Amino acid sequence: MAGDDPITDQPNAPPGHWAAKAIKTLWPSGRKGSFLYGPILPKLQNLDAVREPSLRPSREWKAEKVDFNIDLKRQNVEALLVQTVGKEMNDPCESCQNGQGLFVGCVSPECADIMPQCANCHWGKQGHRCSFAKMHKDGPAPSTEKVGTAPMASKKRKLAEIVDEIEMAFDHSNLLLLKQALRL
Ligand SMILES: [Zn+2]
Ligand SMILES: [Zn+2]
Repeated sequence: MAGDDPITDQPNAPPGHWAAKAIKTLWPSGRKGSFLYGPILPKLQNLDAVREPSLRPSREWKAEKVDFNIDLKRQNVEALLVQTVGKEMNDPCESCQNGQGLFVGCVSPECADIMPQCANCHWGKQGHRCSFAKMHKDGPAPSTEKVGTAPMASKKRKLAEIVDEIEMAFDHSNLLLLKQALRL
């Protein structure tokens, strides 16, 4: 399926095949049924795709390789979605400036409270290396204006995560996992 191979070296190309896949988020490492893992995917999944994620010319991956690598880690699913819906930074992080990362362009999710790092650094769970993340950590305490904006929503989210963990535990017929899920 050469037609599905990702584009390379085309920053901010109009959303296409991989943008649509990112929004659907069907990889098992990103979801189970209708439940999306982690805090990032649910927050970003309803946003509009603004670009087709483009790989660096040095990463000419075929569609199968991209699919395989995305599904290795939840963070990779998140990185692809951020690259699709996020905001390109005028002043890229140090890592992107040095040409590191899978994607062309340093794209941030605009929700620094849960993910200060750019998509490129987040890929492979390397977010800590991002200069944005370091800035966020060392910078002033986050504004308190968001505290308490949606306490019910976050409680619901927490419950949904616990229910999901229990469900997974049953899937594996593993009582140990269930105990861990219930923090017993
Ligand atoms: Zn970056
Ligand atoms: Zn970065």
